[in-house]
Amino acid sequence: MPDPTLPSSHDKVLYTPGPLTTSLSVKQAMLHDAGSWHWEFNALVQSVRDRLVALAGLEARQGWEAILLQGSGTFGVEAVLASIVPPAGRVLVLANGAYGERAVLMLQHHRTPHVVYRTTEDTPPDPTELDRRLAEDPTISHVVAIHCETTTGILNPIETLGPVVRRHGRVFIVDAMSSFGAVPIDFAECGIDYLISSANKCIEGVPGFSFVLCRRADLEATQGTARSLSLDLLGQLKGFDKNGQFRYTPPTHSILAFDQALKELALEGGPAARAERYRRNHATLLAGMTRLGFKSYLPPAVQSYIITSFIFPPDPQFTFDAFYRRLSDKGHIIYPGKISQADTFRIGSIGRIFESDVRSLVAAVGEAVQEMNLKRLAP
Ligand SMILES: *Cc1c(COP(=O)(O)O)cnc(C)c1O
Repeated sequence: MPDPTLPSSHDKVLYTPGPLTTSLSVKQAMLHDAGSWHWEFNALVQSVRDRLVALAGLEARQGWEAILLQGSGTFGVEAVLASIVPPAGRVLVLANGAYGERAVLMLQHHRTPHVVYRTTEDTPPDPTELDRRLAEDPTISHVVAIHCETTTGILNPIETLGPVVRRHGRVFIVDAMSSFGAVPIDFAECGIDYLISSANKCIEGVPGFSFVLCRRADLEATQGTARSLSLDLLGQLKGFDKNGQFRYTPPTHSILAFDQALKELALEGGPAARAERYRRNHATLLAGMTRLGFKSYLPPAVQSYIITSFIFPPDPQFTFDAFYRRLSDKGHIIYPGKISQADTFRIGSIGRIFESDVRSLVAAVGEAVQEMNLKRLAP
């Protein structure tokens, strides 16, 4: 009998930053019509919330909550920013990629005062510089960091940035969309107050909701500051408090899939085992692509095992569209766009994929190189 936790063999394999290839059993979990306001579904939602708190190494007893919110990851980040910053607050965004810039855009839309500490896409923010900026500007109330900036795959050092934020008594918000569940995160060490992630990244569920981990008391203290109704994070928590329900139509199928995805994460051995599989995927990818002659974009010291950027081959025969289409014809979907400022393409190592998948992707890249008659692959 085929292993139900493997992806169905008919779909092309996704090497993207999400949504990702999921197991057949995660997809099968959606073959039900759950009563969105029925107690059985509400109990499942509560169980998912409890398991997320535990997965983060946090204690519900100490007041930590996992708040689920309809929409993709962006909605979760925007919910935090639209809900917790008081009128007199000011947000410092640490930006070195498209997701940091997206947080800036949100603050612009909300007319929330903010400042940006930008570094280049291959450079993490410097804790000493952060320290200087916080010391210099006491009006900064909140700091936003992107853990794995999926634009390039750079891993920003929240374990050294967070303690600086805490020492200055500011609120630390971490977008851990593409790392939570596969990169170990110590909330206490990093001084995280709000962490955002979503259903369809390293937990290997399907799209439909994001979730925020935070302390109930912190969020309750923000009463009255929300600038949005549907993205009101405290409002959402109060809805769950009241009757166990989402305030508005919940992503029922996505929750069913997520429940199964959490079970499979536990079966695999938890985040440490998942990290190991992703690390092997990344190592296999990097070794294979390097052997072919490609050059990765980031310095190894800051490269995550989540997603890897490769520099466009300088060969005049190379066009990304043709390259992408050839890989797709061979059954492999890489990320189709370019969001980095550098001329790079990205290949993800996350989702229900294994070393054997990555090896066949590398083989397909080798074939595409031959077919396109590319001679120069690295600058
Ligand atoms: C995926 C991702 C998001 C959210 O993107 P959506 O398309 O809204 O799910 C936000 N931040 C990071 C770092 C991400 O990788």
